[in-house]
Amino acid sequence: MIQFEQVSKVYPGGQKALLDVNFHLRQGEMAFLTGHSGAGKSTLLKLITVIERASAGRVSINGHDIANVSPKHVPYLRRNIGMIFQNHHLLLEKTVFDNVALPLVIEGFSHGEIKKRVAGALDMVGLYGKERHNPIMLSGGEQQRVGIARAIVNKPPILLADEPTGNLDPKLSMDILRLFETFHDAGTSVLIATHDLGLIARMKYRTFTLKQGQMIGGEQQTSRVGEA
Ligand code: ADP
Ligand code: ADP
Repeated sequence: MIQFEQVSKVYPGGQKALLDVNFHLRQGEMAFLTGHSGAGKSTLLKLITVIERASAGRVSINGHDIANVSPKHVPYLRRNIGMIFQNHHLLLEKTVFDNVALPLVIEGFSHGEIKKRVAGALDMVGLYGKERHNPIMLSGGEQQRVGIARAIVNKPPILLADEPTGNLDPKLSMDILRLFETFHDAGTSVLIATHDLGLIARMKYRTFTLKQGQMIGGEQQTSRVGEA
């Protein structure tokens, strides 16, 4: 589903964020990505969403090399990916409904279809009936659920989360991970970047570990495709 082959990322200025990373998230797999702050987790996610581009190596989704995807096609690629952030990036002056509806509005769905889908997404995350609330009126856990509803509202085959439980207590964190499991059970590929090792240990999923830009655990050594 998502494959990295000898991927390196050097930022302008020379900061090496990823070094020769090999990594494969299988179709429908749920996995964790861990490592200390600065290890390269966010960078790896940004390469998948083409917020950043690799300096070397190959990043592919469903066998398609995304390294050279044109700027025009990036939005189409991103429709396949639901992205969840630590601070959920909600629009605080908008209602819960408007926040969740945003990806559908951008895609040009009809108002009726949007209402139906937003209600369905809010139902899935346990926020049915909160459409008219402002995110400020909600608890931290509920706000994160709004962010998740927005990420899944157009039913993307891939979900990426960057420290989704960073601001939540252990009980709420576990609830959020259980929620990710329901999407995984429905066939979605899920990759969760987190430094919360306690949380990871309580679940049965594969864990990829980055250390100073290098993948040091999780991925079975595969043949290094592309090596001369
Ligand atoms: P993590 O998500 O694991 O904390 P990041 O991917 O954010 O790690 O960062 C990896 C390294 O790349 C760090 O040294 C960070 O300072 C650096 N870095 C991240 N983004 C940029 C950027 N836009 N420009 C320069 N350096 C960056
Ligand atoms: P977060 O903890 O939410 O990842 P950060 O403060 O680490 O937030 O990073 C905020 C933004 O700054 C990110 O887009 C990241 O890529 C970028 N960034 C991180 N480190 C650097 C750096 N050394 N130079 C420039 N930009 C950076």
